[in-house]
Amino acid sequence: MTTTPERTARRAFVLELHEGDRTMAGLLGGKGAGLAEMSRLGLPVPPGFIVTTEACRAWLSGAGEPEGLWDQIEAAMLDLEHRSGLRFGDPSAPLLVSVRSGARFSMPGMMETVLDVGMTDAVAATLVARGEARFAWDSYRRLVQMYGRTVLGINGSLFDAQLTELRRATGAATDAELDAAALERLTAGFRRILVEHTGGDLPQDPRDQLRRAVIAVFASWNGERARLYRAHEGIPDDLGTAVNVVQMVFGNRGEHSGSGVCFTRDPVSGAPGVFGDYLPDAQGEDVVSGSRSPMDLSELGRRDPALHEELSTHLRTLEQHYRDLCDVEFTVERGRLWILQTRLGKRSPAAAFRIAVELVDEGVIDLDEALTRVDGTQLQTLLHPTFTTVEGLTPLAHGLAASPGAAYGQLVFDAATAMEWTALGRAVVLARPETSPDDFGGLLAARAVITSRGGLTSHAAVVARGLGRTCVTGVEGLLVDPVARVATLPGGVTLPEGTVVSVDGTAGEVYAGQRDIEPSAVSTAISQGTGRGTETSDRTVRAVLTLLAHADLRGHLGVMANADTPEEARMAKRFGAEGIGLCRTEHMLLGERRVLVERLVTDENRAGALAEIEALALTEFTSLLETMEGLPVVVRLLDPPMHEFLPDLVELSVTAAVAAERGTLDVMLERRLATTRRWHESNPMLGLRGVRLLTVLPQIIDAQVRALAEATLALRARGLDVRPELMVPLVADVAELTAARERMEGILADVARAHGTTLHLPIGVMVELPRAALTAAALAEHADFFSFGTNDLTQTSWGMSRDDAEANFLAAYREAGIIATDPFKTIDEAGVGALVAMAARDGRQARPGLGLGACGEHAGDPASIGFFARTGVDYLSCSPPRVPVVRLEAGRQAVLLAGTRSTSDTR
Ligand code: ADP
Ligand code: MG
Ligand code: MG
Repeated sequence: MTTTPERTARRAFVLELHEGDRTMAGLLGGKGAGLAEMSRLGLPVPPGFIVTTEACRAWLSGAGEPEGLWDQIEAAMLDLEHRSGLRFGDPSAPLLVSVRSGARFSMPGMMETVLDVGMTDAVAATLVARGEARFAWDSYRRLVQMYGRTVLGINGSLFDAQLTELRRATGAATDAELDAAALERLTAGFRRILVEHTGGDLPQDPRDQLRRAVIAVFASWNGERARLYRAHEGIPDDLGTAVNVVQMVFGNRGEHSGSGVCFTRDPVSGAPGVFGDYLPDAQGEDVVSGSRSPMDLSELGRRDPALHEELSTHLRTLEQHYRDLCDVEFTVERGRLWILQTRLGKRSPAAAFRIAVELVDEGVIDLDEALTRVDGTQLQTLLHPTFTTVEGLTPLAHGLAASPGAAYGQLVFDAATAMEWTALGRAVVLARPETSPDDFGGLLAARAVITSRGGLTSHAAVVARGLGRTCVTGVEGLLVDPVARVATLPGGVTLPEGTVVSVDGTAGEVYAGQRDIEPSAVSTAISQGTGRGTETSDRTVRAVLTLLAHADLRGHLGVMANADTPEEARMAKRFGAEGIGLCRTEHMLLGERRVLVERLVTDENRAGALAEIEALALTEFTSLLETMEGLPVVVRLLDPPMHEFLPDLVELSVTAAVAAERGTLDVMLERRLATTRRWHESNPMLGLRGVRLLTVLPQIIDAQVRALAEATLALRARGLDVRPELMVPLVADVAELTAARERMEGILADVARAHGTTLHLPIGVMVELPRAALTAAALAEHADFFSFGTNDLTQTSWGMSRDDAEANFLAAYREAGIIATDPFKTIDEAGVGALVAMAARDGRQARPGLGLGACGEHAGDPASIGFFARTGVDYLSCSPPRVPVVRLEAGRQAVLLAGTRSTSDTR
């Protein structure tokens, strides 16, 4: 084939490794940028070139193979032949290449790679003639299988089945024991699968193999697991993947060859020192597939100290260069070391904290940067409870502690069942012989994962750590039979599907039944300011406390809690809350106390009911304010629709009908029914609630305000510094606010006068309706502060009731790609966020000192906190257990905002 000189010169879609560097991940993908950077550093990387993400995007747009792409690839192949001294498809000096996916953001195992491209009958024959029959057939069968799966879309289990059958027939325990003759038979068998399923054999022109493999790797960007992974990780769908074409080096070339995966530190605990697995006479992903148990790197060090030393040196170079934990793939071909990939290593949440702080100790990074290396979601998982220690409890089985945590659930044996049962609201534990990328959905759904095979760098282990799922791998003697849906323990005990087990990912143990759990060491330490536990957890605890303290120093956002009771308030304070940003008063009237509201609305001794409500409120406010002495407590007036306090209309109607039938219907029951019917609303969320009660039941507001005033004055008389504030919910128009304000101030003045003093409390408004946000300037004239109630603001902006949306169509919306994230979980910046930003701006313009807070679900969502920080709110108010998470995120966002460090490559 000929290439015109202009095209070769343009090279728009193809770059040589040495033309790139680590900053070019957008164009070259993370893997390509890493390979380029390692070449620059002088590490032993096999030569190759990169087809850019731009080429992939062009292909994804549906216009077919981009114009000029193939010419450029051919030119690059010529260069590669030149540099390697080998020739593609030439049996006397065959060049084989790998065709590897690699996107901007790491998506481990989610896309496809084809190895050994260039192997043909002629090449195999020459290798056989040279006495390398086993190597030849092993490489050939791998190519046929990967080509069949990836390029031709043949179901991989067809190949696996043949392989299993061959192992059985030859009595080989693992693939490594298959001899040349067996592998030759396997290659032929695999090729028959190709012919049967597609009508065509493996192309014998290596250029055809290459061309189709490149396109297949492009296409794997849109494979199912890649899409699922992106949705979960929030990676955009339009980036596309680069394709790395790299000269093959062979780990499957006998006992002095092999392949391995390693980390520059322990990605589970964060402990320093190289860490990894190595498998002799193996290629590609054999080492992580769990098909044979790999050896520890220290074992490799005993076998070949010089090689181990060389590897360790390269790992140190990489960690110093990237200033972070690196994850490295390497291969040894006849004693010679090759580095095939590096990227920032996925780590457990515990390791993330420990590594960040220890890199500070080592002088590699500073505390600001360390703070950007962790996030609130990771801290959240560290706050999860652990199992309560029980003396003498024996585990059912032991394995490797692959991803820390404590979880229990019902055993399931395949990803589909895991997803199905989870959708039904059950907690499940996924058990597999080993996992493959196809199990991703199951790993995502399960609370914990157990595999009978595989090491600490196996697929299950790596994915579970990334997702924060509890995981135990390599459970010795456990037999998992996904077909019969049963697991068998070494002693012969069987565990059928649905059996409840508890998985301790920190200790690497599996227990029968559901074990008790207790607060995590990190959570205990945060609330007590002390650490406890094993060495590792001590280090993690120390790291979390260090970074939290630094976050508090850096953060501009105040962190308050949504707390209704003194117990919640105490918990919030222990976790570092600077006040209560939202006290929902309705909890005082729920449960048995609902009758008070019923009496109020049925007009049956209304005065008596009101007096009781006021007395209750006085007691509750008093203890809440006392608990939070010295800190603000924002009390919100009664908010929910009345029907929440009244009997269910349908139930009551039935009771009344039955009573009428029996002739026992009395006046009381009739009256209850009439009242309930009168207060019934077909859409209570948009009905009579919040400030709107002012029109029909102002007495209840009076009672609440009076109680708060009495509590405040009594406590202040005792010398306590209590700081209550009042907040009006569901305001749409400024006239509602002024009416409420006038009424409340009147009551405050009355109570104060009776005590011979004065009392002014800050009065704020919840901005939770679009109309409130749109008229923020007017509201601000009459409000001391705004608190954004983003739950209702999301419901009313989208016109969706949260419960109905989540039950009925949000999941479908996500699947169809209509929405990327649940707007009730993470703030919808474009819509709801725009309203918040606008109201904040208009409000502050109208009243410069206006306080701004947010108290919806989003205020505790790590992914939303950056938005609030940028919008300039003063404080966030979240549920008490989330307070540390928000403190950490607030500090981290402040560092990111200040732009102290770029984090573009820490993802
Ligand atoms: P992934 O993104 O899933 O890690 P890779 O492209 O890294 O996929 O390749 C899959 C496996 O094949 C890895 O184990 C890798 O180390 C190995 N591999 C890739 N290219 C080569 C090569 N040129 N020589 C030897 N092994 C290779
Ligand atoms: Mg892979
Ligand atoms: Mg790889």
